[in-house]
Amino acid sequence: MIRHPDTPLAPAARAGLQSFQSEIDGLPDYAARVDAAKERFPKRNTASNATFREVRKTLARMCSGARRCMYCEDSVADEVEHVRPKDLYPEAVFVWGNFLYACGPCNGGKRNKFVVLVPPANVIDVTRQQGSPVVPPVAGTPMFIDPRTEDGLLYMQLDLTGTFRFVPTSALNTGDYARAEHTIRILKLNDRDYLVAARKEAYGSYVARLDQYATWSEAGKTPVQLTRLRNSLFRMGHPTVWAEMKRQHRRLKQLRSLFERIPEALTWRVP
Ligand SMILES: [Zn+2]
Repeated sequence: MIRHPDTPLAPAARAGLQSFQSEIDGLPDYAARVDAAKERFPKRNTASNATFREVRKTLARMCSGARRCMYCEDSVADEVEHVRPKDLYPEAVFVWGNFLYACGPCNGGKRNKFVVLVPPANVIDVTRQQGSPVVPPVAGTPMFIDPRTEDGLLYMQLDLTGTFRFVPTSALNTGDYARAEHTIRILKLNDRDYLVAARKEAYGSYVARLDQYATWSEAGKTPVQLTRLRNSLFRMGHPTVWAEMKRQHRRLKQLRSLFERIPEALTWRVP
């Protein structure tokens, strides 16, 4: 789970979102803002709304591969997802930086669940239960790692040696460990067999293409041929697998010898 660098939204769409958000922010109390956010977002998030057409277009450009989900990197992204749920944070319902493009299983699994960490070590589930009073959630650091602003790989590592599962990298009983564990669990990054299989498959494909690139490079293929091969590698998606291959190459024999043949590949980044 890598960070997705921000792609600027076209000025007209940015202004459109600001105008939608101002309507919400102008309502007199929190409960009214929550109601309006829940009612107005689905009405505006449609193909006939010019602002949201642009939002979706820009989010699509930020996705890897063939418009893959920004969380799991595997399934097609077709839902505009709020990192901070609109049910709890109406002040972010039309905020560009709170949007991701996600697949149904990722978005559906996360839904309105939200947990915050309050120092020194209080983990508070602020998910609003049915029938509970509509009041603002307790303030704290979100447990969920936000790929718009944070690099998940600072908190977790993908095991490339066999399981292809994510593992928290911080010490047990730390906030960072808890955040990684929480994010992996909420998105079911390890519990969906097809995701694990897809990461393993992507790893094998990356290794094969890299090996081919090294062989072609050593055989004196033309720059055009090499660029074409390199571009095919970038279209493969699963940017986390690629990022982890670069990060872990020194301690994995197969990768170490591959990158020694083409050290410039360490600077390649899957768009
Ligand atoms: Zn997904």
